[in-house]
Amino acid sequence: MVCTSVKEGVECYFMSKKGCQFNGGTCHQVVEECSGCQKVTEFPTGKYCLVFPDPAAKWRLGKCVMATHLKGKEKRGNGRLNPLKASKRGSR
Ligand code: SF4
Repeated sequence: MVCTSVKEGVECYFMSKKGCQFNGGTCHQVVEECSGCQKVTEFPTGKYCLVFPDPAAKWRLGKCVMATHLKGKEKRGNGRLNPLKASKRGSR
């Protein structure tokens, strides 16, 4: 559904007829690490990420995987491998 709260007009998975169903009932504004990313969009309510409702959570365990401003400069991801996926790759 289309958001009618902080990111008005943006199609969002968390929006329902009862309002925003995201944890806390609203998106959270971008964090300092997001500065320069093309997904940052300014709304009358503040600066929000077009992809993630809680940008701080995307940076808590490493770099945000959807960040557009890190390309070429640094490797994306946190360098950790998912052992389950790694074992599947090895068995091919
Ligand atoms: S995609 Fe990641 S880095 Fe870019 S604004 Fe969203 S949370 Fe921040």
